[in-house]
Amino acid sequence: LSSQKAAILSSLNDAQRRAVTSDAPTVAILAGPGSGKTHTLTSRVVWLVDHVGIRPEDVIVATFTVKAAREMKERIGKALGNGREKKIVLGNFHSIARRYLAAYGRHIGLNQKFGIADDADSRAIIKRICNRKPVQPDPAAVRAWISKKKAKGTEVDKKNARKDAAKNKGLQDLEECYQEYQSHLEKSNLLDFDDLLVKCVELLQKFPSCVSNIQTVLIDEYQDTNGIQYELMKLFAQRHKRITIVGDPDQSIYGWRSAEVKNLWRFLADFRATAEISLEENYRSFRSILDLSLLVIQQDKNRYKKMLKPIHNRGPRPVLRKLKSASAEGDWIVSEIKRVMMMSGGMLTNNDVAVLLRSASLSRHIESALGKAGVAYKMIGGFKFYDRVEIKVIIDYLRVIYQPENNDALGRIMNVPKRGIGEGTIQKLHEEARQASISVWALLSKHSRGERTAKTRIAAPMEQKIVTTLLRPLDIIRKKIGESAGPGGTPFGLVEVIEQLLSSIEFQKHMQLTYPDDHEQRWANVQELVSLAADFVRDLAQSGEDDILPEIEGLEQAKETEVLPRFLANVSLAADAQTGDKDEESKPVVTISTIHAAKGLEWPIVFVPAVYNGSIPHLRAEDNDEERRLLYVAMTRAQNLLYLSCPVFCSDGKEDGPPSRNQLSPFIEPINRAFANKGPCLDRPVMSEIAKVLGRKLPSEDDIFRELPTMFSIEDNIFPVDPEQKQTDSTNEAPRAAKRPRLSG
Ligand code: ATP
Ligand code: MG
Repeated sequence: LSSQKAAILSSLNDAQRRAVTSDAPTVAILAGPGSGKTHTLTSRVVWLVDHVGIRPEDVIVATFTVKAAREMKERIGKALGNGREKKIVLGNFHSIARRYLAAYGRHIGLNQKFGIADDADSRAIIKRICNRKPVQPDPAAVRAWISKKKAKGTEVDKKNARKDAAKNKGLQDLEECYQEYQSHLEKSNLLDFDDLLVKCVELLQKFPSCVSNIQTVLIDEYQDTNGIQYELMKLFAQRHKRITIVGDPDQSIYGWRSAEVKNLWRFLADFRATAEISLEENYRSFRSILDLSLLVIQQDKNRYKKMLKPIHNRGPRPVLRKLKSASAEGDWIVSEIKRVMMMSGGMLTNNDVAVLLRSASLSRHIESALGKAGVAYKMIGGFKFYDRVEIKVIIDYLRVIYQPENNDALGRIMNVPKRGIGEGTIQKLHEEARQASISVWALLSKHSRGERTAKTRIAAPMEQKIVTTLLRPLDIIRKKIGESAGPGGTPFGLVEVIEQLLSSIEFQKHMQLTYPDDHEQRWANVQELVSLAADFVRDLAQSGEDDILPEIEGLEQAKETEVLPRFLANVSLAADAQTGDKDEESKPVVTISTIHAAKGLEWPIVFVPAVYNGSIPHLRAEDNDEERRLLYVAMTRAQNLLYLSCPVFCSDGKEDGPPSRNQLSPFIEPINRAFANKGPCLDRPVMSEIAKVLGRKLPSEDDIFRELPTMFSIEDNIFPVDPEQKQTDSTNEAPRAAKRPRLSG
């Protein structure tokens, strides 16, 4: 054990070691980017399990993105061994809350078969409610208000609200919308993202024994917790009150989700005995990257100041490049990627590159530039695979299979594929079901059994069609699922469910008819969904998370045996998960990500395109300081090379008249002279500095040069290199230096 102990501690500096081994019940680590906060947190988990002897299942670790959770689990797993990390309750707040609700929710009267209403669902429901109002309120504003109300973590004081409402008509409308929205969710047995947290708080308040085994709670990216997450954290830790939090106020970027840096000061006030530890060395980036990032964040005069000094050398200066248009920007990024790859002689690969975007809509130009040049990429965050039309339909079908009472989902699939059923008919069905206080599905089943009444509003043939093409096929699938779960049942797994579904509704034919131009791509997406489902099933089998929560005496726990609901939850909660990562090992790919989803991660080479006013800060952003922090987060992801760029002309609205000009982001404008305006020289000394930071081996110069002919094709317009020429070069020592491609881009 002692050598193991030494291994945990050897990769830490003094302050980190103090944090990892601290006996204090509450520990707070506040420090800047790249100072090893996450590294320290994962080491502390390993320390607590391995050295202090806490059982892994008695540890809760919360973080904010799916990707960060996955990386943490991997790191902890490597150190612990024996797959013990699988027992740790590790994930983002929502997925942890969902797990507890699935296990114990019925004790607070939750229907065990609850589904999750994701953002799009919530939006649609609220829109419908607003449309019914005489004075139609703005659905987006209503939604924001409702979400804020829930996320604050304070019980609604109905009396007060009513008093306020009397004074304020607008508030009354909001209250009404809120009530209707909530009752709609309840009827459909859905929880929205906020409800997952609210309900979990309720559960843990009423049944503290659910978490009576929990010895310690650790939270990464603490600066982004909101009020309700704060309550949840305290409830998780209510028995032993041992909490470790790790965060950086400068990286608080979820204010729009009601995250409050205030919770940081609240923590320190609530837990007086907290050991506060600061980490002051940045292990991630070259000094020049850190210097410029600090120049950005220091424009915020009200920030909580911390020390952060680089341990690495200066390295090349970050680049700020203006380009004519967004598509020129994309091409420039591709050419830089290629140049860097070439000069590194294989030490760096596309896996080392990330393009970080303020908003998902910026990805189009980047994707097309990479696509044109044949550079493979993957996307994380914001670009929801699950938002594609054809995928949403299948997910809605699966939701109905799982929860036939989900009227919203049923309404959306009623005429997809086309069944000749109009919006009017769907409305009538909804209305009739509402009056009968049953679900649309139940209503249709009733009618199909011949129980039509005088009040029945839609024509029998129409209804018959819905029954034969929708209800029956789905019922068959539901039955098969039920049978396979019973003893001695024939296996009918998730993949089979989807495949049978696709064939029974003739989905491929529907694609061909509806999307003659790109049905192949869309069908490929559907196939991707099938393979994601297969992966999900496999991962589940491997992780054996079926009974992850330990038995609590006197409190019955529901075991999650059904795969479908867990898959659906995963779809809803993994909005920031990546797609297309299966080739990761075989083929290096560039990462395209939103800045939000890149939080906590790092790459040797980072591009931040579109740094113009209106993009960052975003046109519709309410809080400029938060936008600045967002840029700071983006810049501090880079280890070795950082590129900012800005298209001079707007590419949209180009029809007539002169194109409008973009202004450089006000966060960058005052310091723009500190940047280089073209890609850095990437000579041998620079490359070996990079190798040092990354702990990699730089290939010999001869090897690099031999690689060149294979790395470039003739039509490469960036470095037109004549293959003949190069061959002579590589056999001729002397003139090589002179004939080498330009070193700066
Ligand atoms: P962020 O605020 O961006 O989340 P962080 O503070 O969590 O950053 P980490 O991601 O934990 O920082 O660490 C940044 C990098 O520094 C990682 O590659 C990590 O392995 C490395 N690192 C951390 N501590 C040390 C150390 N003591 N010695 C060497 N490398 C370290
Ligand atoms: Mg971190």
